[in-house]
Amino acid sequence: MAVTGGCYCGALRYESTGEQQFAMQCHCRECQYITGGNPNVIIVVPADGFRFTKGEPKEFARSDLEKPVRRYFCADCGTAIGSRTPSRPDSFVIKVGTLDDRSAFKPQAAIFTIDRQPYHHIPDGLPSFERRPG
Ligand SMILES: [Zn+2]
Ligand SMILES: [Zn+2]
Repeated sequence: MAVTGGCYCGALRYESTGEQQFAMQCHCRECQYITGGNPNVIIVVPADGFRFTKGEPKEFARSDLEKPVRRYFCADCGTAIGSRTPSRPDSFVIKVGTLDDRSAFKPQAAIFTIDRQPYHHIPDGLPSFERRPG
């Protein structure tokens, strides 16, 4: 299913035409920096179906990590669009908050609950994993 989205200021727009691979909420420490404190809600899509249709994102990856996540965000307004991770080289991770239609999101799992804070909500019955599911 094709989805579209972009950043807060409109400088970046993207589309993803591949089949969604996974939907989840991530409670890890890194995500808390990006979201402002809550878990990140994300969908995973095929990287070859994802492209920026307007603007060029700024990219960042920590140089002090062996296999850092590469993060894509708007250089003007700072909105984090998504990331690519070495553990899933063929996938692109989209942050649900940047989708034009955010209503269809249904998490299939909560991950990195080891970093969960008391104010993080996990829906009843959602499979939860202390780290990444095996
Ligand atoms: Zn922007
Ligand atoms: Zn995370």
